[in-house]
Amino acid sequence: MEYISTRGSAPTLDFEGATLAGLASDGGLYLPREWPRFTEAEIRAMRGRPYPELAATIMRPFVAGSLTDDELDALCHTVYGDFGHAAVTPLVQLDQQQWLLELFHGPTLAFKDVALQMLGRLFETFLDRRDQQLKIVGATSGDTGSAAIRAVAGLERVEIFMLHPKGKVSDVQRRQMTTVRAPNVYNLAIEGSFDDAQAHVKRMFRDDDVTGRLQLGAVNSINWARLMAQVVYYFYSALQLGGPDRTVAYSVPTGNFGDVFAGYVAARMGLPIERLIVATNVNDILHRAISEGDYSAGGVTPTITPSMDIQVSSNFERLLFDCGGRDGMAMADQMHAFEASKSMRLTNAQSQGASALFTSLRADQDDTNRALAWAHREAGQVIDPHTGVGLHAGITAGASGVIAPDVPIVTLATAHPAKFPDAVERAIGVRPGLPARVGDLFGREERFIELAGDYETTRDFVLQNAASA
Ligand SMILES: *Cc1c(COP(=O)(O)O)cnc(C)c1O
Repeated sequence: MEYISTRGSAPTLDFEGATLAGLASDGGLYLPREWPRFTEAEIRAMRGRPYPELAATIMRPFVAGSLTDDELDALCHTVYGDFGHAAVTPLVQLDQQQWLLELFHGPTLAFKDVALQMLGRLFETFLDRRDQQLKIVGATSGDTGSAAIRAVAGLERVEIFMLHPKGKVSDVQRRQMTTVRAPNVYNLAIEGSFDDAQAHVKRMFRDDDVTGRLQLGAVNSINWARLMAQVVYYFYSALQLGGPDRTVAYSVPTGNFGDVFAGYVAARMGLPIERLIVATNVNDILHRAISEGDYSAGGVTPTITPSMDIQVSSNFERLLFDCGGRDGMAMADQMHAFEASKSMRLTNAQSQGASALFTSLRADQDDTNRALAWAHREAGQVIDPHTGVGLHAGITAGASGVIAPDVPIVTLATAHPAKFPDAVERAIGVRPGLPARVGDLFGREERFIELAGDYETTRDFVLQNAASA
């Protein structure tokens, strides 16, 4: 499969190249040149397959030319044979129409493990083949950092430098990063905010002193391989609910538009999806873009769903490109104008393309808390606040008739409630405990390095500590 950039001028790459590159050199994001499609009969034949096998079937066309069938099968069995639930992503029924798809049975209790565990293995495979080293530099406000660290800890050819704003990450999230013992993991606690840490990372990718000496890689959801791995659980859940002979709707707690874009890809591949509900918190740029065509960045308001506290959503560019006729030059112009003014209107084609499949809904803190209380009262389920934003949107869409009563609505449960125990306890009076498999998190020793808030200190630390290639 060939991969092209949304901004039209970066070189075309194969799957291996796109995985190692992350961001395209023209500032765009990689997408497959065309969408592979399954017929209804082919999808029906996927029913009942175990997750690792289904994963290999869905990913096969995307990795063609870069991984053999045997290599892909082995990767999928290694990665998905090691989750905390035999079904990998089990479905739970809440009432007649509402369902949860639990995506938090990986090592760090958030859905990001489903894709990052695969990405770590892909890095290892491709770097071995090329005899190369990769340095991952990232900033995190929580979930991405721990999932990325767990995905690459102990790998020979990868080192990871993960920046977090000192004192501004929850205890569980920090400990999930700082208690990992591996010589290739550096946790850097930076003075300042998440945005400051993020700015350091972006600057490092543009700093010739750094890029001239180190090959940098990205683990955020701009990396195509992550989205590809997330497509699988849409197929997996729809097949259990009667697909492809019955359509299913999904409600997706959304930040960077990665998880919900994977649903769009599943639909493009032939899976009958009734609707994708983009559920946002009060940082609602996507809700405004989808409902009104107005994509304009505001400030970020901190919420009880920090993994969705975003100003702009990087992966939205992929949707705009695909719906807008795949015109890379026009996309580059549109995004450059947006980067200058922080505001843009969707074209008619983009708006119509988006509204054909997406609906958006926004949840404030009261809405979210009510959804947590509803799940607890109606179905005895303790859910996390991010999942609560999604469930609020799912319940609203069902009650208002946006989704017909005979169509199942699946909310993606993106984090285990024990990652956000304070917010859950405030909402329903129950303090969720950590599952046994991570139970000694508070007994393990932490290791991190504190750094001053200026860019040079971080850059020099990375340059001095990165093992030479
Ligand atoms: C990352 C994250 C999200 C948002 O996912 P996107 O792919 O960025 O839209 C939602 N919930 C949780 C718990 C997350 O960690």
